[in-house]
Amino acid sequence: MSMELKLYDTLAREKRVFAPIDPQRVRMYVCGPTVYDFAHIGNARPVIVFDVLFRLLRHLYGESRVTYVRNITDVDDKINARAAERGVSIRDLTEETYQNFKADVAALGCLPPTVEPRATDHIDEMKTLIERLVANGNAYVAQEHVIFSVPSMKGYGKLANRPLDEMMAGARVDVAPYKRDPLDFVLWKPSNRGDPSWESPCNIRTPGRPGWHIECSAMSWKHLGESFDIHGGGIDLVFPHHENEIAQSCCAFHTKVMANFWMHNGFLQVEGEKMSKSVGNFVIIRDVLADWPGDVVRLAMLSSHYRQPINWTVKGLEEAEKALAGFFDAASADAEPRPAPSVLEALLDDINTPKAIAEMHALKNAAGRRALAGTLGFFGFRPEELKAWQADHVPEPALPAVEIESRIAARNAARKAKDFAESDRIRDELAKLGVVLKDSKEGTTWEVAR
Ligand code: AMP
Ligand code: ZN
Repeated sequence: MSMELKLYDTLAREKRVFAPIDPQRVRMYVCGPTVYDFAHIGNARPVIVFDVLFRLLRHLYGESRVTYVRNITDVDDKINARAAERGVSIRDLTEETYQNFKADVAALGCLPPTVEPRATDHIDEMKTLIERLVANGNAYVAQEHVIFSVPSMKGYGKLANRPLDEMMAGARVDVAPYKRDPLDFVLWKPSNRGDPSWESPCNIRTPGRPGWHIECSAMSWKHLGESFDIHGGGIDLVFPHHENEIAQSCCAFHTKVMANFWMHNGFLQVEGEKMSKSVGNFVIIRDVLADWPGDVVRLAMLSSHYRQPINWTVKGLEEAEKALAGFFDAASADAEPRPAPSVLEALLDDINTPKAIAEMHALKNAAGRRALAGTLGFFGFRPEELKAWQADHVPEPALPAVEIESRIAARNAARKAKDFAESDRIRDELAKLGVVLKDSKEGTTWEVAR
């Protein structure tokens, strides 16, 4: 078995063998949420997918050798608008939303990242980068904005891999007058009165605030350095967000790469449709967790390969619940948390979780009990959680309880009369209706089969 980890790199457009730049320290950055409202089930996808990669890297390189940074974007127009709408302070809104997000992702069974930096704690780093970009000739000041000059960077557009004219067509809509080129983007802008503002860089007199892209260049620099191993996020972030992060970081540091591997999860749809508030299929993690255990949500999410689109359905959750219950039934009580060799092999191949789950099903036998328990522990699946949920969610029987009781009485009478053909017939008939009988010294009880 090969122990090489292969990851699909969006920039190279192929799977490549992973090796950390610094063998003593694996460094991963994933773009986190903009905190103004509850996170939706689509936001849960990168959180869950990169949690599995985090666990895998910790398994391969040692727990203390992996640094996982997932930022909090707490300065944004949507935040300002929502705070005004609700009549709360921006700090209260972002803090409340962040606490909700933290609780949601913990309930999903995801490990906390090593660092969760907030954008507003890194304004100085952003200003340092912006001033360097201006000094390097990669950015200019215009009408109190600082703008990144896209034509100043050779190789811009490599990640997005789109023809320049296509990117231009997208950018040409409503080009701001202060931009020299339609693709140029904002690094810093003046704040509206009443909105959060900081002293501006580059001798601009009006207080202002950073653009979105510069936040990630600053936070990854501060916590991971000028170049690092893996940068992740949803596929929607490839262009312009990640393309612009690369432009900023590589031009500020004169480095060839910002991250060695660019990884992107595919998009999630709900019951076959793009999730949107107007369609009425907008699903927040909080509501899903009211109905399902976090581990079931996680297993359902991992049932599709992370680069494929995923269709989020109630049926998928029901299937994941059955699968997880089957794993816990078959696994031994405890084992050291480590993936079974067959599961590890699947994960080493670009985190092939559908294959890993198929291998877990194959371990549901006497010989696989311990390996399965170790694998469940590796993923962080929690047997007590599912048990507690099952105790609260007893399925409805197909017959009224009095009818079941009367059939049990008839069966007991048949048994007393030694008419075993009849007593078996009654038991089988109930079994077909999903009602399972359990005989003991104290008498016969029934439950609904799951
Ligand atoms: P946002 O708060 O919108 O910036 O998104 C946070 C993260 O969730 C980013 O990595 C997005 O790419 C990702 N994301 C947002 N919507 C979806 C979706 N429907 N499916 C998968 N990932 C998504
Ligand atoms: Zn980012």
